[in-house]
Amino acid sequence: MLNGDLFIGGERRAAGRRFRAYDPGKGAEIPEPAFAEATALDVADACARAEAAFEAYSSRPLAERAAFLEAVATRIEALGDALLERAQAESGLPLARLQGERGRTCGQLRLFGKEVLEGGWQGLRIDEADAARVPPKPDLRLRHVPLGPVAVFGASNFPLAFSTAGGDTASALAAGCPVVVKGHPAHPGTSELVAIAFEEAIRETGMPAGVFSLLQGASNDIGAALVADPRIAAVGFTGSRAGGTALMRIAAARPVPIPVYAEMSAVNPVVLLPQALKARGAALAQGFVASLTMGAGQFCTNPGLLLALAGPELDAFLADAGGHVSTAPAQVMLSAGIHAAYERGKAELAGSAGMRQVAQGQADSAPNRGAAGLFTMTGAELLADPERAHEIFGATSLVVACADEAELLAVLRALEDQLTATLHADAQDLEAARRLLPTLERKAGRILANGWPTGVEVTHAMVHGGPFPATSDGRSTSVGTLAIERFLRPVCYQDLPEALLPEALRGEGAAGIPLRLNGTRRL
Ligand code: NAP
Repeated sequence: MLNGDLFIGGERRAAGRRFRAYDPGKGAEIPEPAFAEATALDVADACARAEAAFEAYSSRPLAERAAFLEAVATRIEALGDALLERAQAESGLPLARLQGERGRTCGQLRLFGKEVLEGGWQGLRIDEADAARVPPKPDLRLRHVPLGPVAVFGASNFPLAFSTAGGDTASALAAGCPVVVKGHPAHPGTSELVAIAFEEAIRETGMPAGVFSLLQGASNDIGAALVADPRIAAVGFTGSRAGGTALMRIAAARPVPIPVYAEMSAVNPVVLLPQALKARGAALAQGFVASLTMGAGQFCTNPGLLLALAGPELDAFLADAGGHVSTAPAQVMLSAGIHAAYERGKAELAGSAGMRQVAQGQADSAPNRGAAGLFTMTGAELLADPERAHEIFGATSLVVACADEAELLAVLRALEDQLTATLHADAQDLEAARRLLPTLERKAGRILANGWPTGVEVTHAMVHGGPFPATSDGRSTSVGTLAIERFLRPVCYQDLPEALLPEALRGEGAAGIPLRLNGTRRL
């Protein structure tokens, strides 16, 4: 089924240089197929076709757009086990996890299909004219329109749900934007299979071919050229801070700068408040290590930093958590590069001044296995060396023992901004929790109580975002239906004759779509 083709707006193409996929579990290349590396010409062609498809795609009735998203989901499901097996070989992730991820990917596409039909994302507003006013008040009508072709960079750690047909792609297509995907070089076969699903869905629903392209390759040049292309109107990215900020710089330096929505790095601080720690320290230790080691810790929401007050309760917690970490088996990591970066980061943390290693997970000499790590230092030590609170992508966490609540708050304030912040609090902790909340609201996109940050529901109220450097733009989310807003902008129509207005804005607005009419909300 796979032959290593690029998918350029309805045309398959494969010439020039080739690269091969890598199986991190075996530590060896996957011989077949060899994947075509996109050239600068391929990038330009994909963008030109996306631009050519833009008006045709965005002006299709919303029901057709929704049916297209549904068809992509159905076609992905029809790929069956071949998709899961390829994703497993290329990522080292267990089949059960990938099965869940496929469900999430298709559920997400369908959720965006429903969102398209609901129509509220258009943000319709009508302020009717008043000719009697002096001066006369014009007729003003507003809706949100799609930005144009969107470049999407798939993430390595979610080869399905944050990749070729992941949240960025689904939300951009839902907004009415064609998508040019830069496939992640760690899972090119998985990306190609999903591109086949797109090809079939486009044919089945009669969408313009340029609505989807997949560019593959293992070089920065492809992504850089894609973001620089004048036809690209916005970028969705999940990956490293170095990658995300490089793309932000390219986007800002263009003659016409464009928004970059990059989801990059976080340590997701978890605060164990005193009463919770005292009442359920053992259960917290178990929940913490389960969250830390899930998926070899390769989640942007991994709990990389715990804060609590020093004392016998924290000592007992560390002993329990250390016990769980020391029996945790090493797990395959996503790629040789990510494994090497993890080992480097862990060694650097272990060697830093004042650092105490609480426990080390089971070692495994098989290729690309990452062992968990647990470290501790005091709040004063961290305040003297805040660099220690940087993300180590993998199952390593740092527990910070604070002298008192004031020091704990100072540590929180000294941290970079985050995707999530978590409080473990019992009834007697609520006053202290209330004192921390204003700081947490400034720091993070999602605040949790008595849970663990791994696991991000795809819903309407979810925020998977946060101020820089968690993301490049903390005013948005990359998960949940609100993600559609990243790819829209408002247009106001002043005094347009009814016949020229978009249908949804005629008269008193289309029935069944939320609207603000002369200032009053109508559901
Ligand atoms: P990455 O290196 O940032 O790569 C992500 C994508 O961006 C790839 O398609 C990559 O393609 C492209 N890219 C990276 N730098 C670029 C540049 N300067 N110019 C143009 N394109 C660029 O992420 P990764 O390979 O998935 O993992 C590396 C590290 O990222 C991990 O160790 C971890 O720290 C972090 N990470 C974070 C998350 C998260 O959820 N926030 C997820 C995964 C990884 P090319 O390599 O082909 O250029």
